[in-house]
Amino acid sequence: MDKSYLDCTDCGNDTKNEYYMLEHDLWLKVNNGRRPGFLCIGCVEVRLGRELNAFDFLDVPVNQPEVDHIWKRVVLRSERLKDRLGNFPKSNDDSDKSTA
Ligand SMILES: [Zn+2]
Repeated sequence: MDKSYLDCTDCGNDTKNEYYMLEHDLWLKVNNGRRPGFLCIGCVEVRLGRELNAFDFLDVPVNQPEVDHIWKRVVLRSERLKDRLGNFPKSNDDSDKSTA
């Protein structure tokens, strides 16, 4: 098998089912200050020392629950990624515009 560029930097597992984007600062923290790279959820949590949660993920389309196609390939999210994303996107408790 060809080595995929989506392989996790730490454990070498294919991360195609764990494609996500973390908040920039958090990602730089776990990735030694570098932007490029892929880490599976498990290795991110090892580096971070805690479990990820919905607030750790960027508000971008790849993190939206309805997205199941990335680069025209069906992506089946791993159970732990779905678990960490939770009810993403986060609800804005401070937006109180609706009066109806
Ligand atoms: Zn890994």
